[in-house]
Amino acid sequence: MGQARAVVIGAGIGGLATAAGLCSAGWDVTVCDRASSLEPVGVALGLAPNGLRALDVFGAGDVLREHAVPQEVGIQRSDGRWLMRSTTGQLIADRFGDPIILLPRSAVIEALAARVPAGVLSLRTEVTSVEPGGPGTARVATTAGDLSADLVVAADGIGSAVRSALFPGHPGLRYAGFTTWRLLTGPVTGQAGVTGVNGVNGQVQMAESWGRGTVFGVMPLADGRVYCYAAAPAPPGQRAADDELAELVRLFGRWHEPIPALLASVTPGDVLRHDVAELAGPLPSFHRGRVALLGDAAHPMTPNLGQGACQALEDAAVIARLAAGTDAGEVPALLARYTAVRLPRTQNVVRWSRRAGTMTTWSAPPAVAFRNTAMWLAGRLPPSATIRGLVPVYGWRPPPAARPTAGGGPSASAAV
Ligand SMILES: Cc1cc2nc3c(=O)[nH]c(=O)nc-3n(C[C@H](O)[C@H](O)[C@H](O)COP(=O)(O)OP(=O)(O)OC[C@H]3O[C@@H](n4cnc5c(N)ncnc54)[C@H](O)[C@@H]3O)c2cc1C
Repeated sequence: MGQARAVVIGAGIGGLATAAGLCSAGWDVTVCDRASSLEPVGVALGLAPNGLRALDVFGAGDVLREHAVPQEVGIQRSDGRWLMRSTTGQLIADRFGDPIILLPRSAVIEALAARVPAGVLSLRTEVTSVEPGGPGTARVATTAGDLSADLVVAADGIGSAVRSALFPGHPGLRYAGFTTWRLLTGPVTGQAGVTGVNGVNGQVQMAESWGRGTVFGVMPLADGRVYCYAAAPAPPGQRAADDELAELVRLFGRWHEPIPALLASVTPGDVLRHDVAELAGPLPSFHRGRVALLGDAAHPMTPNLGQGACQALEDAAVIARLAAGTDAGEVPALLARYTAVRLPRTQNVVRWSRRAGTMTTWSAPPAVAFRNTAMWLAGRLPPSATIRGLVPVYGWRPPPAARPTAGGGPSASAAV
């Protein structure tokens, strides 16, 4: 059996994880990305226990655990009054093996890229079309020449051109009704001049604050920098007439400290803004012929559960485990299994994430008052009740690794 060959489109978290998994399964892999560097869009990332378990499949979990800050997020009102203080962090770690951790995105990209052998990655290489193949190989046209492959994994992100080409009748993306901002401050502590910090010993404390349809999250990283994110309803495509930092100050500058102080500590160019979208309906399949969709290309979701990258990592872990011991002729069957496992799982997570964000979008004063009371009461439930609700998301396990057959070669597990 000759070495099976794969092309991965996109070197984001999903594409790099897939490449790492396929390379260690013995495949000959090329990763094409149109970007000129691996610098990620977005500044920090929350990884839940299921995402970390997927990273372990590629051998990248432990190196990231070393740099992580465990998340313990409470919810405040815009005036600073606490609605709920989370006490579930340690319970999540006890129940699922890891806490939710926060990391710079660049650390995740670096950990995955370190597991992709030299020569596999082809930057400044845009994929211009894909022929899905079937019994025969798939073909990938790129700005650096054409490639043929037994397996193509399209991890080309939320705006996936491969998704549109494979499923031309699908209605595509639907705006979720709100926009997001992300920014990273320099190192800030009480001693470094940021006043009004609300944590212990002058440190900024993790929290998410809810207003009328608006949200502001504050999350310190291990190195003292602070990751902030915000969300607000807005027409799709709308951008601030001046700059996005000024827009954030207009929306959140009168909220409780340390939000105004954190906003005052960044420069306008440091603010990223993205409108949030998901698919107008589920795809009929995650593959066609020999081409699979993966990550945001397959299942873009709202960020409310912090699961987009975690689900991309789960997808990649499943592909890697199925591909170990699979030869080129078995790829269509591998992909049928991939769709059967991943499509229902990710549709559930998409739905749960949308639902988790619903209450934060309420803006009418009676609805906001009702929501705040409900959150305050929920904060008084025993943490074990919260943990039970997390099992379907965080309890995911990767398929078992292929075991050697009696003939000595590996066999893909049927238990995926
Ligand atoms: C505000 C916000 C906060 C979030 N927070 C979290 C969080 O805390 N935890 C979490 O798990 N998820 C989070 N997410 C979701 C997460 O960012 C995404 O789900 C994840 O980055 C998707 O990775 P990907 O590899 O599928 O796609 P991408 O990272 O978008 O990568 C796609 C790659 O494909 C390349 N590409 C595209 N087209 C082509 C082409 N034609 N040829 C070659 N290359 C191409 C691009 O250059 C890019 O590098 C958040 C999202 C948002 C918007």
